[in-house]
Amino acid sequence: MTTDAAGFPNDRIDTLLQHIGQAPLDPVTGTGPVAMPSMRTSTVRFASMDVLDRAQAAKQRGERVPTYGRVGLQTHEALETLLCRLEGGQRAFLAPSGMAAISMTLMACLSQGDHALVVDCVYGPVRYLHKTILSRMGIAMDFVRPDLDSLQAALRPETRVLYLESPGSLLMETLDLPALSRWAHAHGLTVVADNTWGSGYIYRPLALGADISVIAATKYIGGHSDLMLGAAVARDPDLIHKLHETHYALGSTVSADDAWLALRGARTLGLRMRTCAEHAMMVCQWLAEQPQVSHLFFPAWPQDAGHALWQRDATGSNGLMAVAVDFNEHQVRRVIDGLRLFGIGYSWGGYESLVTQVEPSALASNGHWAQVASERMRAGTVLRLHIGLEDPADLIADLAQAFAAV
Ligand SMILES: *Cc1c(COP(=O)(O)O)cnc(C)c1O
Repeated sequence: MTTDAAGFPNDRIDTLLQHIGQAPLDPVTGTGPVAMPSMRTSTVRFASMDVLDRAQAAKQRGERVPTYGRVGLQTHEALETLLCRLEGGQRAFLAPSGMAAISMTLMACLSQGDHALVVDCVYGPVRYLHKTILSRMGIAMDFVRPDLDSLQAALRPETRVLYLESPGSLLMETLDLPALSRWAHAHGLTVVADNTWGSGYIYRPLALGADISVIAATKYIGGHSDLMLGAAVARDPDLIHKLHETHYALGSTVSADDAWLALRGARTLGLRMRTCAEHAMMVCQWLAEQPQVSHLFFPAWPQDAGHALWQRDATGSNGLMAVAVDFNEHQVRRVIDGLRLFGIGYSWGGYESLVTQVEPSALASNGHWAQVASERMRAGTVLRLHIGLEDPADLIADLAQAFAAV
């Protein structure tokens, strides 16, 4: 068993989360703060030209040596180290949002004339990125069902990337990431996985075969609905080089205060995810008994279509679920408006419960939904719930009164 610099075993994630990125001790006084302070700066000061030359040389070798403020100093480095350990990567590149991390990664991996295969359960704005920017740069994308036959049929000689998300946005569809990665690698593709759901704690795409893991730290890493932040984590030196170039050239920065908030949030990542997951399971148990509920999309739920894959590849769950309900458009709006403890809003992964309706137009582009809907006479509408840290009995009572009022 290997250990990290502090002598802690590197395979117990809850211990790592408390000990990575501590502030160093002052060599003179032998003391230091427990928590890494927010190191705000726009630039770096060098003791001499020799020191500056050494820093530049190390940077040329690809080491993380700040010579200017843009990549950040100790606070950013501590967060990068933590994300690398969570995801099992060698380098992490921070971005000002999850979407910025996705754009940076796809721009690093794709050039004019290239084609990417993207699974159709992907986070919606990836389609927007293609429509508005990547297509203008001569990069083609196909959004396809995440099965080998569909991917094989859409493969082109110029395909370079397979972009995945597991479980998928909207309907939490768990993918066979190892099988899809093996297929992609056999065709020379780079596999990029959006791991916002797992956030390196309950799911680790790099260990399952992906080459780059992208996370919106806005969600569970930050965990308190008070910051926007993203990261791309990679292991392979060539990909790290490409990400480094693109990260540097794009020049999008993360403030030290946001890196600090993300580090602080990460200390309680395990506690929060486990509790949200437990509460979500209780809410599922109640929902499953309601006649108006026709389908639960929650990988930890035993009847979920992806449950076996989730058991094989994930080590836990979180508070995010989708629920198909037999309410019409009018009724579903009344249910949402009738909830008192669930805020109406996008996003998830914070301490609080949220609800939105999954947009019918988004569902229409998702093959999994077409399948579920065709298996049923009435597929109804779909709610997305994020179950937070409130008392689950209160959340269930709130859902019960909102359902009963319709
Ligand atoms: C929220 C989200 C993102 C984007 O993150 P932002 O920080 O909001 O830009 C990316 N992927 C998934 C799966 C998300 O849920």
